[in-house]
Amino acid sequence: VGKAAVPAATLESIAATVDRGTSPAPAHIGYDEYVANGGYALLRACAAGERSGESLIEALEHAGLRGLGGAGFPTGRKWRIVKAEGGPRLMAVNVDEGEPGTFKDRVYLERDPHRFIEGMLLAARVVGIDDIYIYVRDEYHDARALLAGELARLQGEAPIAGLPRIHLRRGAGAYICGEESAMIESIEGKRGMPRLRPPYVAQVGLFGRPTLEHNFETLYWVRDIVERGPDWFAGQGRNGRKGLRSFSVSGRVRSPGVKLAPAGISVRELIDEYCDGMADGHTLYAYLPGGASGGILPAALGHLPLDFDTLQPYGCFIGSAAVIVLSQQDSAAAAARNMMAFFRDESCGQCTPCRVGTAKAVGLIAAPRWDTALLGELSQVMRDASICGLGQAAPNPVDCVMRYFPHEVTA
Ligand code: SF4
Repeated sequence: VGKAAVPAATLESIAATVDRGTSPAPAHIGYDEYVANGGYALLRACAAGERSGESLIEALEHAGLRGLGGAGFPTGRKWRIVKAEGGPRLMAVNVDEGEPGTFKDRVYLERDPHRFIEGMLLAARVVGIDDIYIYVRDEYHDARALLAGELARLQGEAPIAGLPRIHLRRGAGAYICGEESAMIESIEGKRGMPRLRPPYVAQVGLFGRPTLEHNFETLYWVRDIVERGPDWFAGQGRNGRKGLRSFSVSGRVRSPGVKLAPAGISVRELIDEYCDGMADGHTLYAYLPGGASGGILPAALGHLPLDFDTLQPYGCFIGSAAVIVLSQQDSAAAAARNMMAFFRDESCGQCTPCRVGTAKAVGLIAAPRWDTALLGELSQVMRDASICGLGQAAPNPVDCVMRYFPHEVTA
């Protein structure tokens, strides 16, 4: 977050958010408390053959659970794809959480680590995983230590038959290692650079084996969906959408934090109902619906449903649901300059459209008046020819400024 492409005031609010602890589980839940409240009963039932893997996959499919790291791939379908591959199969869990403005995974990890661990072990059992690699970002020192302690406690306390081997790996602060194939390269001990696909990691992933790759939060919800029933999760959407989303809200709101809210909620509803409104003296001017890469939308589009697939027509996406709120005291162009500099710094450099394109864009948008025709061409090349999502999405903030805030850069 220290390199985040957002105004300084927003960074302060992110820091304040982490301290406020506004997640649904406000205090740390350790192993004893988790077990006392029914924890690991589902995993033991699966291990004893009392629950079938197929019933779990069906529950996830009916719930509509999708990958909550940003890609939104249907979870049940991913489990089926990897399960159908020949063994040995591996699993890679992404706790890198490098998207500027995103902090939900850390909040959940610090407060309720075993809900995640049980979901991870359920996935491993259903899919048939031999080894799990958990990749935790370097900046999350305390969370990583906490996770290591809780894993040791689980393994030493009451062994469950057939658990896979679990390896905890530390990232080294590279944004690109949040991309699944770059993370896999990094786990293998190589420089974190995205792979060309196909083959997909489900077929040829970690150490050349079929790999189930998941974001932390996706696994966090598995137990609740299975135990409470898929209708509990699917029935909570709004504005025609289904499910729950954990929004990391920061910026000019009165109460920033992790907000568990219905999928499809609009940013205006999110601010009014979950964040106690805008901060004093601020009115909504713009918002970033998906961190640095998800684009910038104007207040006039504050009614749009925030969910996967709903923002594409507007040149944006929700990604990992990091909502950054800007007010009349902020500038969309300044935010775009900051974000493009971030992408230039974080580009892995292996493909020219991204390596050169981000640097070129930084130079072009430094001018008070933008060459919109040239920037439009550059954006198109980066979208069409970059290998991975970083280069493909890097033009989003710039394109949004030209589309929604032309008064800032053409006057
Ligand atoms: Fe690396 Fe950028 Fe190419 Fe992705 S798009 S592979 S980050 S140079």
